[in-house]
Amino acid sequence: MDIRVGCGYDVHALAEGLQLVLCGVNVPHTKGCVAHSDGDVAIHAICDALLGALALGDIGKLFPDSDAKYKGIDSRLLLKEVVELIASEGYAISNIDCTIAMQRPKLRPYIDTMRHTLSEVVGIDASRISIKATTTEHLGFEGREEGVSANAVTLLIKG
Ligand code: MG
Repeated sequence: MDIRVGCGYDVHALAEGLQLVLCGVNVPHTKGCVAHSDGDVAIHAICDALLGALALGDIGKLFPDSDAKYKGIDSRLLLKEVVELIASEGYAISNIDCTIAMQRPKLRPYIDTMRHTLSEVVGIDASRISIKATTTEHLGFEGREEGVSANAVTLLIKG
């Protein structure tokens, strides 16, 4: 069996007055991610995990932030494109596991909506998509509420 594992990591700074979008879900908060796209740090980490599994580079290579067409783009569209690329290489996504690190707000109430939103974009059952949230106990940039980080792991199986 040909299986591939990939990991992804992303960070965005937080700033007052911006919309916070995580896993395609608008999360009510006073701060949002500073970014060329919609700043969906979790989707960016997931994209990099998928690309990494097949050694296809990273999200910055596929969707350069110097390109005006990606300005403010809904990151679900980027993920959709990455998923199509994975499929064109003959691989299916077995599962995705992602951890978002931010001090506030509590993400628990949004986790299931995030999983179902991603399920629709990726085309696999929500039971194969894990989204977890953690604070960093007030330590580091996440703990100081200066930024958000996300880690993602995925497993791909050749069809
Ligand atoms: Mg990013």
